[in-house]
Amino acid sequence: MPIAPEHLALLYTGPFDAYLYGRNSRDMKKKGKESSVGDQLTEGREICLENGWPIKREFSDIGRSASRYAKREREEFEEMIAGIESGDCRILVAWEASRYYRDLDVYVRLRSVCMAAGVLLCYNGTVYDLSKRADRKATAQDAIQAEDEAEGIRDRNLRTVRLNAKAGGPHGRILWGYARRYDPDTGDLAEQYAHPDRGPIVKKIFDRVAAGETEYAILQDLRAGGERLPGIRWEQHHLSEMLRNVAYKGRRIHQGIDVGKALWAPLVEDEVFNAVQQIVRAPERRTSHTSTVVHLLSGLARCGLCEDAPYLRVLNNRGIKSYQCSEKFHVVMSEAKLDAYVEEAVVEWLGSKAAAAAFSSTDDQQRTATARLRQNRMQAQLNEARAQAATFGTDGAPKLSIQSLAALEASLTPLIAEARQEAESVTVPPLLRGVIGQPDIDAIWEDMSMAQQRALLRAVVTVRLMKARVSGLRTIEPGRVVLAFVGEPGFRSG
Ligand SMILES: [Zn+2]
Repeated sequence: MPIAPEHLALLYTGPFDAYLYGRNSRDMKKKGKESSVGDQLTEGREICLENGWPIKREFSDIGRSASRYAKREREEFEEMIAGIESGDCRILVAWEASRYYRDLDVYVRLRSVCMAAGVLLCYNGTVYDLSKRADRKATAQDAIQAEDEAEGIRDRNLRTVRLNAKAGGPHGRILWGYARRYDPDTGDLAEQYAHPDRGPIVKKIFDRVAAGETEYAILQDLRAGGERLPGIRWEQHHLSEMLRNVAYKGRRIHQGIDVGKALWAPLVEDEVFNAVQQIVRAPERRTSHTSTVVHLLSGLARCGLCEDAPYLRVLNNRGIKSYQCSEKFHVVMSEAKLDAYVEEAVVEWLGSKAAAAAFSSTDDQQRTATARLRQNRMQAQLNEARAQAATFGTDGAPKLSIQSLAALEASLTPLIAEARQEAESVTVPPLLRGVIGQPDIDAIWEDMSMAQQRALLRAVVTVRLMKARVSGLRTIEPGRVVLAFVGEPGFRSG
């Protein structure tokens, strides 16, 4: 799982000797605003400084196109590759994936070099560990997207509209349903427009919700239609976030506040969008049958100051969500920050020896595993019999008579129920059995629904939030979040 730079030291052992890499595809002969390499390196330096990563070397490919259509060699790049291979650095800090990912060949090379040398890759404010499958997947998607854009640059005669993020231009991660064009000379973002295939899908989703269809039904259809992105299937949270995102009606949000009309065209009309909000934000939905839990840690993480450790609840201040002590309101942390911290620590723990030890096999577990096996076998037998009874031979008679099936059902059903009961009388939630000891815990975690993640967290960790000594810190200071895993002092079940 990609992690935030400030959490790196919690999960990996330093020192984090860093290489900085800046790259510019801009043609230096053209006059224009200065940007790119200098800015990229400045950003990189700030990240290193903030996180205490010593800068070993800086590399910049000024004025060289990152496109594969460029002919000039990139000597610095080659030097950097050699340095990475020789183990000279622990982390490579680059800025903005689309710049150096323009060239998929270069990217593939950089990635495999980092992977082979065990070097972490940091870009767009995120650190990727390429030895982990989820991280490889995430970076590969960035590369594919960048490649698409690079092809677009070459093939199309562009309308070079300069967009400024503050003036309502798009920035950050591209919103699903849109595509982007980049200026061929400067590499700057030129336009964000409706993706020819995905744009209409977004519109249809909103129309269907406005017409009263359930999100469940829509989700089933989306899944039947394929993956959301290569390797990523549609999840409930994709849909939930989409339906609430004002960017789809052409509004721009900055730090949780609507700052006005965006420069990109809306995919959804105001009227439809507002109708959908009436539905998705209705208060009765929060507690109803829906399995969607909106927050990872609400009613789960606890206040570390109050004696009876009340749960944290979510406080929504004009779109900025924080966790807060539900009794005295004295401890607060942004939702995104605490979620990320806990997720990363828990995934790391699940892969550790401590986790395996905490759930090491006991007689009880052996017994329940046997019961589970027995239950599954009998269930399979029953299913097989049902299938036979529904299959007809050439003589028109079922392969298994209804009488035989009825007799089998009568004898097996109570036995199956008994086995199930025994199998479920366990201390280890079944959810954990497919997680601990698996090679791809981060990928498994990503694939879980939030309800599953919450069940897992409940089973393995007690999260306590302490008071900040200094307010407004970007990083989480040591001792601010106290985690007690199962078997450790301070762990509370339930
Ligand atoms: Zn409290």
